[in-house]
Amino acid sequence: MNPCTALLPAALIALLAPATSMAAPTAQPATPLTTGSVRLDIASGRVEGDVCMSNLPAASSGSFVLNAGLNVARVTDGDGKPLGFDGWYDPGVDGEARVYTLAEPTATLCVQYVGAFPLYPKHDALGDFKGMMAFNGDSARFTEQSAWLPQAFDPKARVRSSESRYDLQVDCAGCRFLYLNGSPAIEGARGRFRSDNARPILLFGGSGPITRTAQVTILNETLPPAKVDALSNTVQKVADVHSRYMGVPLADRPTFLRMVTLNQIERDREGSEWGFATWPTVAMSGSIGNVADSLLAGGENAERRVQYIAHEMGHYYFGTLNRPQGPYFWVLLESSAEFLSIKALREISGDAAAERYIARLQSAIEKQEKPLPAFDAIDGSSDLGEMYRYVYAPLLLLSLEKQVGEAKMQAFMRGLLAAPSPRNWEELQAIALKAGIDANAWEHWRASCVAGGKPRCRG
Ligand SMILES: [Zn+2]
Repeated sequence: MNPCTALLPAALIALLAPATSMAAPTAQPATPLTTGSVRLDIASGRVEGDVCMSNLPAASSGSFVLNAGLNVARVTDGDGKPLGFDGWYDPGVDGEARVYTLAEPTATLCVQYVGAFPLYPKHDALGDFKGMMAFNGDSARFTEQSAWLPQAFDPKARVRSSESRYDLQVDCAGCRFLYLNGSPAIEGARGRFRSDNARPILLFGGSGPITRTAQVTILNETLPPAKVDALSNTVQKVADVHSRYMGVPLADRPTFLRMVTLNQIERDREGSEWGFATWPTVAMSGSIGNVADSLLAGGENAERRVQYIAHEMGHYYFGTLNRPQGPYFWVLLESSAEFLSIKALREISGDAAAERYIARLQSAIEKQEKPLPAFDAIDGSSDLGEMYRYVYAPLLLLSLEKQVGEAKMQAFMRGLLAAPSPRNWEELQAIALKAGIDANAWEHWRASCVAGGKPRCRG
C-alpha cells in the first residue's frame, strides 16, 4: 500500500488528504495470519523475532521480505522442518527490505531472525522515514513498511502482504508502554496482542504517557484537558456522521501517536512536521497538541484538521472492513475515504467549509496539464497517482452525487462497502444499478463527466 505511506509535507496535507499506508492490491483475497514472538531492547537497538505466517496468498507462498538490517537465522515450515532459501548472496531488494526466495512454496512460513539498529538519542540522524526501524533512545517505532515482521511477497507483482491478522507476544526491555496497530495500547513492557481484522502491523514501544478517552487514545504526549476534549469531540462527531452515512457503526477509534523522529533536531530547527496514518494510528512528529490547537482556533485551519481526521476515519470502511483490490484499488481506498471526509466536513463545519474544500480540489485539477486516465477505461496498468486518488476521483464521485441525488449516492457508497471490489466498469455499474441509480442516469454521468478523463463535467 505503500505509496499511501507517502509522507506528504504539511503544505500538501492542506490540499491532498494525507496518505495512509495501505497495501497494494493482492491477487488473492487470502487474509494472512502472523503469529509468534518478538523481543526488542530500547537501550541496545536489538530485535529478535520468531514469527510464522499462514494463510498466504498463493502467489506469495514462495518468497518473503524482511528489513535489510535483520539477519535470518532459520526458515522452517509449520512443522519445524527447515526450508532452503536464497537471499544471502546477491539478494533481491524491495525498498528497505531484502527479498528471500524459498526452495519450494510452503503453506506456513516461519522465520527466526535477529538484528540490531543504531540509536539516535540526540535525534541527530541525517534523516528518518517510515521504512526505518527507528530507535531514538527512549522509544522504538517499526511500521509495516519497515518489514520488522516477515511479510509474504509476490515477486511477479512485487507486492508485499503488508496487512495481516495477528497473535503476537511482544517483549520490550526499556518500554513503559506497548502499542500494536489495531489493538489497545498496554502499560507494561510485555504483552500479547491479537487482531481478527487484517491490519498493517505497526509497533510502537516507549516510555511516555498514555491518555485514553472514549473517543481517542493519545500516545507519548500529555495534553491539557481542553485539547484532549477538542480531539475527542471532533472524533465523536466524525464517527457519528460516518456511521449514519454508511449504516455501519464505526467501531475503531483513532490512536494519535506523537513521534520524536530520529532527525527531530533538524525538524525543530526548520519547523517542519512529518506524519503518516496507518489506520487506526495517526502518527505525527512534533506535537499532537498542534492538531488540537487548530481545532480550538476554528476557521480554515480547523476545517483542514476536521477533513483530515474524517479522511483517516473513512479508512475504517474503505481499507479495513472493505479491503479493496484490483484496478480500482486506489479509488476504492482513497477517493472513497476522501468523499466521506467531504460529507463529514459539510455536516460538521458547514456548507461554506465543504465548498471551499471542493473549490481547492477543482482548482488543483484544472492546473493539471497531463490528461488523466478516463475512469471508465482504467485497468490494472493505469497509473492512478495522488492527483487521481485525492483530487480527481473524489470530484467524480461528487459529480455523480450531483446527478443522481444524495439518497442514491449514499446507497451506492454502501454498495461499494458491501461488495467485493469491482474488477471492471460493468461490475462497477452493477453496484450502481443495485443502489437504485438508473442505467440512463449512470450513462449520462459517464458521458458528461467520466469519458475522456476531462477535468470538469460537460453539460
Ligand atoms: Zn487515505
